[in-house]
Amino acid sequence: MKIAVVGTGYVGLVSGTCFAETGNIVTCIDIDKGKIDKLSYGVVTIYEPGLEKLCERNLKEDRLKFTTSLSEGIKDAQIIFLALPTPPGEDGSADLKYVLGVANDLGKLIEPGNFTVIVDKSTVPVGTAERVAGAIVQHSNGRLVEGKDFDVVSNPEFLREGVAVDDFMKPDRVVIGALTDQAKQIMGHLYAPYVRQCNPILFMDRRSAELTKYAANSFLATKITFMNEVARICELLGADVDMVRRGMGSDERIGKRFLFPGIGYGGSCFPKDVQALAKSAEEVSYNFRILEAVMNVNEEQKTYIIPRIKKYFNGNLKGKHFALWGLAFKPNTDDIREAPALYIIRELLNAGATIKAYDPEAMDNVRALLGDSIEFADNPYEALKNADGLIIATEWNEFRTPEFDKVGSLLKNKVVFDGRNLFDLQLMKELNFYYYSIGRETINPK
Ligand code: NAD
Repeated sequence: MKIAVVGTGYVGLVSGTCFAETGNIVTCIDIDKGKIDKLSYGVVTIYEPGLEKLCERNLKEDRLKFTTSLSEGIKDAQIIFLALPTPPGEDGSADLKYVLGVANDLGKLIEPGNFTVIVDKSTVPVGTAERVAGAIVQHSNGRLVEGKDFDVVSNPEFLREGVAVDDFMKPDRVVIGALTDQAKQIMGHLYAPYVRQCNPILFMDRRSAELTKYAANSFLATKITFMNEVARICELLGADVDMVRRGMGSDERIGKRFLFPGIGYGGSCFPKDVQALAKSAEEVSYNFRILEAVMNVNEEQKTYIIPRIKKYFNGNLKGKHFALWGLAFKPNTDDIREAPALYIIRELLNAGATIKAYDPEAMDNVRALLGDSIEFADNPYEALKNADGLIIATEWNEFRTPEFDKVGSLLKNKVVFDGRNLFDLQLMKELNFYYYSIGRETINPK
């Protein structure tokens, strides 16, 4: 099939490349010329394990192309995906200007007669498919009829950055909300190679498909937040959240995943999607109280570690110097959007401390954002030199079993504030570290 993907970011590039991998002819479109130039030469613009190889192969075999021209990119495309940003607007609702802007252009460009499927892959509020269809009809000057010349499908994306290629190639489920049987058939055919292991394609109406994405992300954000509150209460009551987590997770109804406490959820999706769902509810006069609580608790959680650091240093961080391991909002990505590490950096700098950070993939993005307000190290150990303490903000695997002797000798004080609970408490006790982690006993050798 001939496919166009409009928006070549994390979702667009992964989707486009994975669609090409099963034999489709894909053109990815973006307004960012620098990005398109790099991609055309096979330089992948994001860090995503496995993506570079796939991209290279499909470019070489002419199944994958990149362009800045919408009209050129969508020419003869049977399916046009919209993988555009839907950032929060000033009031917290999803800003649809990118999606509707492209829909307006598509109204002028799509040819009548060929049934074209326009797919919302962006995370968009309930009712957006209808608005996209309306914009297309309006800008076609009466040339296009919904259901006859085109259909707008809601096909929300559930991939996780860091394992996006795997998630896309073997999704837990594919959700498709469509108006016409023809669009359902085309989408079913497109996704057939990705659901061979009997993972389902769930056909539904468009509104339900749109809401499914927000409900799923909000539920996951709630699960994380619930555990963060359990961790807080563990600290106050002298329980160990690791034990509690295992005890809870063994119950099949609860499940083992997403029960790890930490320094809050971040990234480009959970914060904005929880906010957008709360806003959608408000627009129909419903107060989604759980989501309000989730947002408030998570906001606090991102800097929850700061008062613990201050307490250790008797309330004064002026002149203190910290090593910071991890900047990305989670491991295996270079994405720093809403990363808790950024909130910790801001608080430490405001308190007069200095920071040397290390992250395997995200340092260029943080450098572009923060300039030289913090220092960057070439490896985790270099960051430790003469630091008053180590702070861990992202659970990259390479931080899990460091050479503790080296860590202890490079740091000025053997002090670790671990926002991701990477280390064994008994080990830290034996190694004589001061060790604070979330929801567990604080190890204090003094
Ligand atoms: P992104 O910012 O990485 O990519 C969006 C791309 O769209 C950018 O490259 C931008 O230059 C381009 N763009 C903007 N306006 C354009 C236009 N008029 N024409 C062509 N290109 C244009 O965003 P993303 O992370 O890929 O997210 C896209 C959507 O997918 C969002 O709605 C997001 O919520 C959703 N989503 C994201 C993830 C994720 O993990 N990142 C997962 C599931 C769903």
